[in-house]
Amino acid sequence: MNTLIVLQRGAPILAAIAKPVDKINTDEIKQLIVDLKATVAAEKGVGIAAPQVGKSLRLFIMCSAPNERYPDAPLLAPSVIINPEIIARSHQQELAWEGCLSVKGKRALVSRYTSIDVKYLDENATKHHKTLTGFLARIFQHELDHLDGITFIERLNDESDAIDEQQWRQQNLNS
Ligand SMILES: [Zn+2]
Repeated sequence: MNTLIVLQRGAPILAAIAKPVDKINTDEIKQLIVDLKATVAAEKGVGIAAPQVGKSLRLFIMCSAPNERYPDAPLLAPSVIINPEIIARSHQQELAWEGCLSVKGKRALVSRYTSIDVKYLDENATKHHKTLTGFLARIFQHELDHLDGITFIERLNDESDAIDEQQWRQQNLNS
């Protein structure tokens, strides 16, 4: 188990469309999953996508749990999401604060669909089809964006809508 270096926005791989995973049951993919789980835990993230560690593959981990970066996150066992698709979206969207391990030190209010129907494979190649809402829908949309070369900064009207994490922390403590 290794913690990997998380690439920062500006790295070309974070702006590229990632390739589908053809074969899940390989040593390379198994190792990648173990290392991604270790890395996201060490970085106190709630999700991490393969391109963030330099692998241009359609695979990410969702691991929502309350921590100091996301005090209100729901608790969820880490899930491995492979070749994901959003097959339906709610009309409604909502704004909430996001950060990203590849955009260190920044937070912004990002608009996301409140509910999505998704399809993906897990690490055993089992097919899943489910509806995600709220924070989990938000993580899924954020991580899927990474597979399409998009960070949350590209979702903003203006890059200056992102604020420093320190400023965000103060605002949240005071509200
Ligand atoms: Zn991210």
